[in-house]
Amino acid sequence: MLEQILTGEVFPRLKKPARYLGTEWNAVKKNWNEVAVKMAFAFPDLYEVGMSHLGLHILYGLVNAQPDYLMERVFAPARDLEEELRRRGLPLFSLESHRPLADFDVIGFTLQYELTFTNFLNMLDLAGIPLLAGERTGFHPLVIGGGPVAFNPEPVAPFFDALVIGEGEEALLEVLEVVKRAKEGGFTEKREALLEKLAEVPGVYVPGFYRVEYTPEGRVSRLEPVHPKAPPRVRRRLLRDLDAAYYPAAPVVPLAEAVHERGMLEVFRGCTRGCRFCQAGMIYRPVRERTPEALLRQAGEILKNTGYEEISLVSLSTLDYSGLGDFLPLLREKCGPSRTGISLPSLRVDSFSVGVARGLPGERRKSLTFAPEAGTQRLRNVINKGVTEADFLEAVRTAFEAGWSAVKLYFMVGLPTEEQADLEGIGDLVRKTRRIAQEVFRGRKKVRLAVSASSFVPKAHTPFQWEGQLPRAALEERHRFLRSLVRKSGAVYHWHQIEMSFLEAVFARGDRRLAPVLVEAWRRGCRFDGWTENFRFPLWEESFRAVGLDPEFYAGRRIAYDETLPWDLIDSGIEKDFLVREHRRALAGLPTPDCRDDACAGCGVCFAFGVAPVLTGRTGRVEAREAGTEDRG
Ligand code: SF4
Repeated sequence: MLEQILTGEVFPRLKKPARYLGTEWNAVKKNWNEVAVKMAFAFPDLYEVGMSHLGLHILYGLVNAQPDYLMERVFAPARDLEEELRRRGLPLFSLESHRPLADFDVIGFTLQYELTFTNFLNMLDLAGIPLLAGERTGFHPLVIGGGPVAFNPEPVAPFFDALVIGEGEEALLEVLEVVKRAKEGGFTEKREALLEKLAEVPGVYVPGFYRVEYTPEGRVSRLEPVHPKAPPRVRRRLLRDLDAAYYPAAPVVPLAEAVHERGMLEVFRGCTRGCRFCQAGMIYRPVRERTPEALLRQAGEILKNTGYEEISLVSLSTLDYSGLGDFLPLLREKCGPSRTGISLPSLRVDSFSVGVARGLPGERRKSLTFAPEAGTQRLRNVINKGVTEADFLEAVRTAFEAGWSAVKLYFMVGLPTEEQADLEGIGDLVRKTRRIAQEVFRGRKKVRLAVSASSFVPKAHTPFQWEGQLPRAALEERHRFLRSLVRKSGAVYHWHQIEMSFLEAVFARGDRRLAPVLVEAWRRGCRFDGWTENFRFPLWEESFRAVGLDPEFYAGRRIAYDETLPWDLIDSGIEKDFLVREHRRALAGLPTPDCRDDACAGCGVCFAFGVAPVLTGRTGRVEAREAGTEDRG
């Protein structure tokens, strides 16, 4: 019935109906009556964004490969679909079977970005599922979360029955097994019993089993389990062997235009370069590389199963893959017959990386992006961006000489200890880049230089988690100054909206008291807050006022080392002492080398999990040197 209304009446009225058809190549449609547990993978953003997300393809393929389970997809509905559904009183539905979300046993939201929070509330509401976990009964689906943002789950804690912390491949199957057994035993109706079993799964955080108390000034004073089954801290999950892990050989090929239309080869997880603002660099440690053999096998399957014209090598910094020199020629050979291009989304700031980019088949010499992040060596040392000005200038020269005439430079404004000289340093780098372009091209080609600047956001589990974000007015002033400087050098300047970075900081360091703000903002009409054209900051200001919370308290405050942090319940494996030490080294302007090339920096993760970095390219497959104990403090 729902299917008929959707396909007959609703879809023809939408601007982009292909987003909701669910008829893509490689989409999996299982028999609903033949599986024990039905799960919806919910991506709280548009189809185009969600379909470019590798995690979705991995979990979708993995769950559907199990005979007992099925997984279908649901994305945040665009405004036109939302209006149609609300007007007709229809529920939100999955793509594959066009069934109401409320019919599933489990709904799993991936949390990739703080500004998608109002979207998941909207999706729950459209599904007719109570927003608060405490208001759901055993007859409602279990609502779980995961993804990097779950590393500080507190602002959304009241909405989730459980959250999976860390890599989900193994943990999700264990969660589904618990649900299956619960269904067999007939106790899904008893929500508490199900949650108790889930709390026993390593890496699963059940927020309702914890109590948070606050000081009169509003700081967290106590975080503790109030249920005997809840561990004092929840340690994230980590996959030890990427080669042995599931990989989606036949990913769903999007129908509507996706942000990235290409096959994705994940070359490794983790990054130990140690940029002090980077959360991913901390929460996905240690480095675990796939072997070239495994990658080539996967590339062959993707080529066979998708027809993509491009394969992208994904990771946090692909040029750091230790086997790259051997692997790229083999991959080129494999892609040759089908003329498939190879792309590297992240380039390191050095001429080696430009050389690699030059050698890729299908490379159309579009623009190259470099991320020096800061304008002076002093500040690059503070943030531990191991890049010198000479590296950078050589890289842009190599790029121009190789024929690229469009270069994008990425910087961050408002970094801890930033001074006027650092902003002027950015202007200098742009001027020097322009001069090199003139020397190389001598007027033969029009050169396009673009500078893109975001504002620093302090993130949980990083050495900069204790740093405050600059007040909005100060950030605005710095961006304006920089824009005039950059424009004088003939480059275009883009800046990320400051209020969006501000909200990101609020929720990145927030606690449970923020949940009502999210509900208020959603009620007032906030949706797709991560999209500039939809972002309405005044609604957020009203929502904070209505709840009586000061957002500056979360974003702008310098936090003391001994203060209890809302995310202290989550154990990433990185020791807090290491983060303190790194923060102190930052303030002293001392860089810390990458443990891939140098000694162990003592972050603690290898000890916590009993693993060591896995680098494949040095001497075959080696478990890299034992993690040491050297204290760099
Ligand atoms: S424990 Fe040492 S070797 Fe392991 S990731 Fe941390 S710094 Fe690197």
